[in-house]
Order: sequence, then C-alpha cells, then structure tokens
Amino acid sequence: MNSWIELPFEKIFLYIEEQDHIDTKDLKGFIEEKTDRPVELKGGFFQEKYHEGLEEKIAGTRVREKTERVFQEPLPKEVEIERRIIKEGKEILGIIYDGFRLTQIMRQLLTQEEKREHTVAVTKRTVGTLEKNENRYHVRVILASIPSLVSLSGIVEGPAKPRDYYLAERGEKEKTLDFQPMHHDDERMQSAVESYLLQTIFWRLVGDPFCSREKCCLYNSHWQKEVIENQLDGELCGEHRETLNQFREEKLS
Ligand SMILES: [Zn+2]
Repeated sequence: MNSWIELPFEKIFLYIEEQDHIDTKDLKGFIEEKTDRPVELKGGFFQEKYHEGLEEKIAGTRVREKTERVFQEPLPKEVEIERRIIKEGKEILGIIYDGFRLTQIMRQLLTQEEKREHTVAVTKRTVGTLEKNENRYHVRVILASIPSLVSLSGIVEGPAKPRDYYLAERGEKEKTLDFQPMHHDDERMQSAVESYLLQTIFWRLVGDPFCSREKCCLYNSHWQKEVIENQLDGELCGEHRETLNQFREEKLS
C-alpha cells in the first residue's frame, strides 16, 4: 500500500543553525542517500528568513506559564535578546518557545515550494508544547509540522534522566548514571540529528514519525538512555527500511 502518496515530496529544504558538532555537508549527504532526493542546504532559518520585526514575533512565542498557553507582548529586553540570537548567533538557554506558535510564524515565511516539499529546520532553541491531554508543557525534540523542527537543546533537555539523577546532590549526579547522557556540546549530536531528521521525513511519508520497535532510530525516546540506545546506535527497523526503499523506487517509476 503506497500510503505515503498523500504527502509526496521530491526535495528537502534543510535549514541548520551553526553548531560545533554538526557537519552540515555530511548531514545533507546522509539524507540524500537515505531518500534519493536532493537536499538544499541553508543556514539558520531565522537568519535566512530575517525581516524587520521578526525578533518581536519570536519573542511573543515565549512560554510564560508551565501549565497554560498564555502569551503576552514581549518586553523590549526580550526583543533585544531575540535580535542578538538571530544576528550574533548567541545561544541562550532557559527560554522555551511555544512550538505551535513558533512553527506558525515559520510557516508564513516559507516559499510555495518549501511548503510543497519537505522543509525542516534544525535549531538550538528549546521548544515546548502543551498538548490537550497534558497538564504542563513538555520540551520536544521534534515538531512534525510544516515546516518540521528538530531542536538540539531539546535532545538534551527533552528526554529525561532517571529520577535518582535529579535527587542527587550537585557533583554527584553523573555518578548515578550507567551511561553518558547527551549534553549541549556533545560530539554525538550528529548521529542524533540524523535520526531525528529521519523522524520528520517519515512523518511526511506515512503520517507517523515514530516506531514502537526498540533499536529503530524512529523510536520515540522519552528517556536519555533510550536516546543513546536508539538514536545514536539505532538504525531503521526492517519495516521502515522497506518504506524508504519503496519511496526511493517510486521516483524511478
Ligand atoms: Zn521502525
């Protein structure tokens, strides 16, 4: 059954903010090899799409309450911070943006072609969503939408560490773990991003970015340990490899 035909694409637009441990050309090659579709590589989304007033719109998507979707006019100071993040590539941790609002702003900046094809932005910003069945915001690694988003800080802050880690004293925390969780300046970021980009691609292909099989890199990891096991070491499971094969052949026929 060619269920992906509903959302076909022939090209991928990949926006990436500069990051030490990500080789953008390798990433482009990886996706092109997996999909047999050309990838157009771009810089950071908000840098490339900058227009007067964009910083104010982005600041307006800041999460204000952990348990409610309420927004307010940003303060001049907050707008200035956004301007510096865009213009100077400043990295600021601790700000969470509402994923729905942020991608809505991004959608308005897409060209017709970018809307029609698969467009994904890799960002250092932290995004969260408050879903209908949840009582507070959760930090997300990916947002499957148009455009899709992969958040680098989300990889670090989204999937949780074991409870003992949070209960341990400062300086003792790492000792509670039998694995190395992802950190912000992590050399393993490249393979993690590869897996998460594939999740956005599968969302476009079959409507579901996730797989329930462990060791498939589409596994929806909620814990850091699962990220290490599935998104760093994982490959696609047989079923998802087959889906990609069909997608590649579809182009030929
Ligand atoms: Zn799978």
